[in-house]
Amino acid sequence: MLKPSDMGPALITGCSSGVGYATALAFRAAGFETFATARNSAQLGELRAAGCQILTLDVTDEAARRAAIEAVERQFGSIGILVNNAGYGQYGPVEEISLDDMRRQFETNVFGSLRLSQLVLPAMRRIGRGRIVNVSSVAGRVSALGGGAYHASKFAVEALADALRPEVEPFGIDVVNVLPGPISTRFEAVLLKSIPDTGVQSPYFLFKERLAHRMHEFLQPGAFGVMTAETVAAIILKAGTAKRPRTRYSVGFIARFGPLGRVLAPDRIVDFVTRRSIQNTRSK
Ligand code: NAP
Repeated sequence: MLKPSDMGPALITGCSSGVGYATALAFRAAGFETFATARNSAQLGELRAAGCQILTLDVTDEAARRAAIEAVERQFGSIGILVNNAGYGQYGPVEEISLDDMRRQFETNVFGSLRLSQLVLPAMRRIGRGRIVNVSSVAGRVSALGGGAYHASKFAVEALADALRPEVEPFGIDVVNVLPGPISTRFEAVLLKSIPDTGVQSPYFLFKERLAHRMHEFLQPGAFGVMTAETVAAIILKAGTAKRPRTRYSVGFIARFGPLGRVLAPDRIVDFVTRRSIQNTRSK
């Protein structure tokens, strides 16, 4: 593990809850100068008390992105580790996802982290070191019905990382993706609210009810493969500080073995099995 003095400060997005909150605590406990950020920095009092520096950052806001990066660079010259964690799941059948909702999903999950990466790179290049850790998902390796928008955004995060990593490697900078399976956080509540409500006349009405119930079951603490935010934060810390990190860390059983099953099974078998898993879920 590289020491904080070898790496410089860490900046983490989306620290108001879940994985971001736990990651900020983990970096701070490991001795890093830690910048915890959130849209509403009033939610970061506990992280401030734990010794983190606090910044307001909506990852979709260019002025806020620049201000946050500049604040760290003014103090330290360069960000050592950028953890692109902020994100949410837009769920619902593809036909009913408005382009505005699709754009919002990409503005946060894809363009937010892409732009922050672009903004930290010049100072990282100048100093000849730096690391970008993207909190991606098994959803970036395997797509499934009901999650098209979210999966598309995480597939994009995966594709961008494979391009960026070898582009910045000559400058001493590394890009590492962390792909967790299900984690019990506020993600579920946000996901359930995102499913478009288009009334009982929708041809997807029953499907959406079952999808909501299925996702509720899938993300329940204690359900098969569901992890805590702290478990994932420990892997993010490892991804950020390992001397020779892997390019990807798949976290948990579902993330490690799900993509393997997906590659081995023909598309129509996967379609059948995933459709059945929702059909067999009774709505609440
Ligand atoms: P969470 O508890 O809902 O946390 C999401 C965080 O992202 C919150 O702090 C939220 O802030 C922030 N956020 C959302 N939009 C933002 C924006 N425009 N600007 C800044 N921050 C924003 O969920 P989580 O599980 O910790 O999710 C963290 C990451 O893990 C996400 O990228 C997610 O895709 C990924 N992930 C989650 C799971 C899972 O099952 N939970 C599995 C795999 C990967 P607000 O309080 O302002 O909304």
